[in-house]
Amino acid sequence: MYQVQQLIGGVWGAGGDAGRLTVLDPVDGTPVSEAPVATEADVGAAVKAARSAAPRWARTSPAERAAALRRAADAIEAVADQLAEVQTAELGRPLALARGGVEAGVSTLRQYAELGPVRGGRSLAGDAGAIDLMVPQPRGIVAVITPWNDPVAVSCGLLGAALVTGNTVVYKPSERTPAAGFLLARLLDEHLPSGVLSLLTGDARVGAALAGQEVDVVAHVGSTATGRSIAAACARSGAKALLENGGSDPLIVDGDVDPRWAAEQAAMGAFANSGQLCVSVERIYVLRSVANRFLGALVQSAKAMRVGPGRDPRSELGPLVDRRHRDHVHGQVQAAVADGASVLLGGTVPDGPGAFYPPTVLGECTDQMLVMREETFGPVAPVMVVESFDEALSRASNSPYGLAATVLTASMSNAQRAWRELPVGTVKINAVFGGAPGGAAEPRGGSGQGFGYGPELLDELTATKAVHIGAPGGEGGRW
Ligand code: NAD
Repeated sequence: MYQVQQLIGGVWGAGGDAGRLTVLDPVDGTPVSEAPVATEADVGAAVKAARSAAPRWARTSPAERAAALRRAADAIEAVADQLAEVQTAELGRPLALARGGVEAGVSTLRQYAELGPVRGGRSLAGDAGAIDLMVPQPRGIVAVITPWNDPVAVSCGLLGAALVTGNTVVYKPSERTPAAGFLLARLLDEHLPSGVLSLLTGDARVGAALAGQEVDVVAHVGSTATGRSIAAACARSGAKALLENGGSDPLIVDGDVDPRWAAEQAAMGAFANSGQLCVSVERIYVLRSVANRFLGALVQSAKAMRVGPGRDPRSELGPLVDRRHRDHVHGQVQAAVADGASVLLGGTVPDGPGAFYPPTVLGECTDQMLVMREETFGPVAPVMVVESFDEALSRASNSPYGLAATVLTASMSNAQRAWRELPVGTVKINAVFGGAPGGAAEPRGGSGQGFGYGPELLDELTATKAVHIGAPGGEGGRW
């Protein structure tokens, strides 16, 4: 069993007297990790330590900070298998996917190590005798609060960007994946000065206590409800809130595409990581002309997916993260069925241990159903047949979320309309996943605010200062 420790002000094993939390293996319910729960005093102590380490870290040259990040990336890469195994144990995701998450994290750390030192401000055209500059500076203390669904990749992005720009960090990983957070923090801490990174563990109460502190930025990746409460806490403290939250991403299948290919795309989008990705396909609008063939092929693709423990290399879909989450997913499916949706595949809770849930395809869905309105975050593909591309676009746009959307179409004019009109951060035409490196977007509506990824995240985590340096005036006024 993984034994997690907190890191406060350079001391591993500090605090944690508010209790212990145990994570159960979603495959069979056996305990896999145990973590301390931070007290209010721990949270205050971690922030205090971050505050006192901040000036020195801010003065450390960007090249040195980047070198520390690069060394940490090498150390993480060296134990990638171990970091993959811990994710598989805590959240059930297939090992290959978990390893992919570690690789993505390592590559993000390296990218920020390259980008950090080459960022600069700009000089302004002021008086000839003066120097006028705009310079980015660290914001101070960044509270990094992360989710469980891709724990290493997501954390590496925020931690790497915050550290390379000269901020100190208090990191609170999800209570569902504390061991993944612990191993990652340990590897980073080995290459950082004491106090620059602290780790607190515990549940929502610990996150809320951290978000309520006098920090400079709260960077949260997680659910919309949590993001809203963090935004309220930041409004009170004056901290900047950077929020990458939930989504209800639509997929539109136009009438002129190969329905079998569209079904493969839909299956990949809806079922990858058992539907537990922020940019999972959450609702599908298919044009009537291809609907029957699309639905048939989607059921076939879903049926072919092998569900099993993440440790078994043959498994394409692991279990859901835990039974509480499975109840949430199944509750939405049951509510949809009660409201008239037809179950074309899956939709039942299997007997046996663990938190497994089958790939599920629902037909005859309507706008009012929770599966179409809210984030399901499970392996569920709810489908609605529509009469026109206009109708698909208008239904896809009608959502409180604004994370991403995918459109499968052979019509360039529909593609152009779609990317212009869909009120979301990211639009993908003819691919549910993918995009060029460095792509970053601002989510809209309930999906959050600010750039949580890419080079722009470095801008979010620095504050630009305008500087005017003139010569002294008066008698003999010169340098
Ligand atoms: P969550 O918001 O419940 O938890 C995330 C973190 O916030 C955890 O560390 C948790 O302890 C903490 N937290 C919970 N309540 C808090 C509060 N009131 N104040 C401060 N912190 C609090 O989310 P989750 O269930 O762990 O993750 C799943 C969600 O994350 C989904 O909605 C998914 O779409 C979203 N997500 C979004 C992105 C993105 O980039 N937009 C990426 C990954 C996951």
